Amino acid sequence: MFQKDADGSRKDNVDERKTSRASYSTNNQKGSVRIEDNKVKLPRIGWVKLCLHRPLMENSTIKTVTVSRTPSGKYYISILVEYENQILPIIPEKFLGLDFAMHGLYVASDEDDADYPQFLRKAEKRLARAQRRLSRRQKESRNREKQRIRVAKLHEKIANERRDFLHKKARYLADRYDAIGIEDISLKAMAKRKKDGKFSFGKSVADNGWNLFTNMLAYKLAWQGKQLIKIDKWYPSSQSCHVCGYQNNETKDLSVREWTCPKCNSHHNRDKNAAINIREEARRMSA
Ligand SMILES: [Zn+2]
Repeated sequence: MFQKDADGSRKDNVDERKTSRASYSTNNQKGSVRIEDNKVKLPRIGWVKLCLHRPLMENSTIKTVTVSRTPSGKYYISILVEYENQILPIIPEKFLGLDFAMHGLYVASDEDDADYPQFLRKAEKRLARAQRRLSRRQKESRNREKQRIRVAKLHEKIANERRDFLHKKARYLADRYDAIGIEDISLKAMAKRKKDGKFSFGKSVADNGWNLFTNMLAYKLAWQGKQLIKIDKWYPSSQSCHVCGYQNNETKDLSVREWTCPKCNSHHNRDKNAAINIREEARRMSA
């Protein structure tokens, strides 16, 4: 059996702390929850109109529904369904390596860079400003409440747009490759390194949605019998020349964006070379 959220896009809790959603869940007992042409039947409440973001799988059973209200007052319902899974794993032939990129999401071995949308980055800055303004407003004042709603709306809009962007990227890659390698990096660990003065990744790390993106990739691949392969975070993807295997310790310095291999003379873009190494490591691991 395989479980899937009919509205998987609502499952991530990236900013839960900030949004403090009000929600309740209920189990489906003998048809107490039903969906019929754009209406949902809920226990106690009865029939409610809804906008279904995508149809339920055929022959699936509704297990649980969760109704939530966003801070700006919108209602969402997320539906957990269960269905028989007949997906057979495929033997991977087409591999892709992804190197995490702080500002652009990823650099891929065989694709263009992720191209994180400029409008999103701008909107994120706007949100940060709005949040600062909110923090200056007097507690319990009407202006504060107005600003709180403004912030909540902007927050939701950005989260939706980002999720949409990540879904499209993940879908695109999952459809084109049989196995995708990524580094198993813990973003928390990376953020912590900031304290010893080595890195200052700032807000973009938390906000560009790498974790959310790799989760999407994992299930979009799995639905097709494909795999996401996590490479050990200590694997020296940035230091090895992908052509001859020479290990260049000078590239431990993050400011080295390009380098020429002293052994085979290949010229490398740091991230592209890393992505190719990740792809090859994934290939080796799956063999
Ligand atoms: Zn080389």
